[in-house]
Amino acid sequence: MSGRFEGQVIVVTGGARGIGEAIVRRAVAEGARAVVADLGDPETPVERTRYVHCDVADRAAVEALFASIDAEEGGVDVLVNNAGIQRVGLTETFDPAVWESVIQTHLMGTYHCSAMAIRSMRSRGGGAIVQIASVAGLIALPGRGPYSAAKAALMSLSRVMAVEVAELGIRVNAVAPGSTRTALVEQGLRDGSIRLEAILSEIPMGRMATPEEIAGTVLFLASDDASYITGQTVVVDGGWSILGLHDRPDWLSSTPAGPGSDG
Ligand code: NDP
Repeated sequence: MSGRFEGQVIVVTGGARGIGEAIVRRAVAEGARAVVADLGDPETPVERTRYVHCDVADRAAVEALFASIDAEEGGVDVLVNNAGIQRVGLTETFDPAVWESVIQTHLMGTYHCSAMAIRSMRSRGGGAIVQIASVAGLIALPGRGPYSAAKAALMSLSRVMAVEVAELGIRVNAVAPGSTRTALVEQGLRDGSIRLEAILSEIPMGRMATPEEIAGTVLFLASDDASYITGQTVVVDGGWSILGLHDRPDWLSSTPAGPGSDG
């Protein structure tokens, strides 16, 4: 494994499990020291990683987090805004407090952490920020109003931030994962808000992503390999969001027996 993050400090919100954990493991394997800001504890802590209990929606807690990073790690080179929750319901009947909590976690959390990270990166002469958005911010997934609205907003916020901080040597990008097999999805499968066959039938590659596949793209954008990329959203969804024809006639299947074929 190359040392793309040798000597760098990476902060991953919600990095105690799932996609965030995969990002931390890979970044540390590539030389980084990590700080994880999460509500919970990791099942298997990663080496060279400091775990801090922090609610990203709480501005005072985020300010304390970044003050501790300045004191203990010396500053931030990479921030990944990954902390997230999923709450489902129809717009007409959604509990307003729950609706707001989704916005608070994804959108306000990203804003709070980014604001503090930019201050630290400014004094270090540069850095990279990656937001974890979602295909839910690009295509309509009924029952996911606040989640989809927050994820779409994150892509827009990335573009605005990218322009604001380009001259500081800070790049800001987003990754929009498709369905990825983590606790968040397992919960949806258990409570019936996600049906596995229905989801898989919408994904041309016919499977969910692994957390490692999302981590690979996030760390590409965070690394110098992406040194001229800013303000972009990279969609990592096995083709879910670009599928135009959902029910293909037999002659258009990948083992055709129709026009232009002998078989
Ligand atoms: P998980 O639920 O597995 O992990 C999310 C982590 O974030 C948990 O450890 C959770 O803590 C933590 N967290 C939640 N709220 C806060 C908060 N306010 N402050 C700090 N930490 C918090 O989710 P995934 O790994 O699946 O998702 C990671 C990101 O990827 C999310 O932003 C999600 O929306 C996005 N995403 C996921 C997809 C998927 O299919 N899995 C698809 C597209 C996007 P706790 O243990 O207390 O819950």
